[in-house]
Amino acid sequence: MRYLRLNDTLAALHGRRREEEVGLTVREATQEMAPFIEPHLRRVLETGEPIIDLELKGMVPSSPGEQRHWRVSYYPVRTSSGGIVGVGAVVVEVTAERRAQEERERLLSEAHEAIRVRDDFLSIASHELKTPLTPLKLHLQMLKQRGTGQPAPSAIVEKALAQVKRLSGLINDLLDTSRIGAGRLELECKPVQLLELIREVLADFQPVSVHHAFTCEEPQEDIVIHGDRGRLAQVLTNLLENAIKYSPTGGTVRISCASSGAEAVISVSDSGIGIPADQQKHLFERFFRARNAPITGFGGLGLGLYICRDIVERHGGRIWVESEAGHGSTFRFTLPLNSHHPESLEAGAADA
Ligand code: ADP
Repeated sequence: MRYLRLNDTLAALHGRRREEEVGLTVREATQEMAPFIEPHLRRVLETGEPIIDLELKGMVPSSPGEQRHWRVSYYPVRTSSGGIVGVGAVVVEVTAERRAQEERERLLSEAHEAIRVRDDFLSIASHELKTPLTPLKLHLQMLKQRGTGQPAPSAIVEKALAQVKRLSGLINDLLDTSRIGAGRLELECKPVQLLELIREVLADFQPVSVHHAFTCEEPQEDIVIHGDRGRLAQVLTNLLENAIKYSPTGGTVRISCASSGAEAVISVSDSGIGIPADQQKHLFERFFRARNAPITGFGGLGLGLYICRDIVERHGGRIWVESEAGHGSTFRFTLPLNSHHPESLEAGAADA
């Protein structure tokens, strides 16, 4: 099985000139491809039947390391009396076509995945939005049954308000997510005293959870940064809510605030369910919920951390998690100490 005659293009595929290739065996000409080619050549020699439009792929000496594709036909070459003396081959390079096809398939599967994520999201979002409505309706019906003139028991009103709060929280997360997607989440930056902010956010939490204790490690002196007070409070609230939500058996939630070099570092630690290592890098993605997040009891849309990341990054900071499944989680974020001027922040937000 030696090459008797071939054109320049085939010889070039093997990285040689035509004169160099004549007389070489298939194995000598292209060692990598020979095991895929030889059985077909042998079959044509043995059966006399051509093989048409065979799809082959592999690497050739002229382009090491690059996967290429060919459409190949082999046919028997006969003497005038009909005896088979060799095999003729037609090799058509189809690498560009195949790559375009692979790209189309990749885009199609991405589109299917995006549709799946959207459908999943719609069903989770409808479920989450509907859940608070049932108790809310119940509480309102109870109030209605009391008739006019009778004072509304504050416990029922409180419960109804808690469900309204949950609903507006979900809707705000949805609105923020679409603002982030459109690059329209804007910051109103002013000097913010971090300690004061943390104390203020914590004060709202103390009465909420009877199973959780809160401690705050305060720095010697207050740290002032330039940022959007409301949005930073939102980040802290979200991290604290998660710390409670994902520590179903209670425990202490620790907050710390310190300055380190040119940054303030704020952390929120819990002793809850933790996060499996392979899930951690996805936590800040839209709609992501870790595998170990319970489905019942305390649902969520998987938007909170996505929004937190956007807010922190718009302030020029970073956010990350340190955790081990079953052994609690620590979320940390940084904020630059006065290194950002408000104008540059706004410009950054507009660029994003
Ligand atoms: P949500 O809580 O609504 O699902 P988040 O974006 O706030 O959305 O959180 C994303 C996921 O990160 C959660 O579903 C959960 O799996 C995981 N997670 C967040 N905070 C914690 C925490 N403190 N402990 C364990 N897992 C957490």
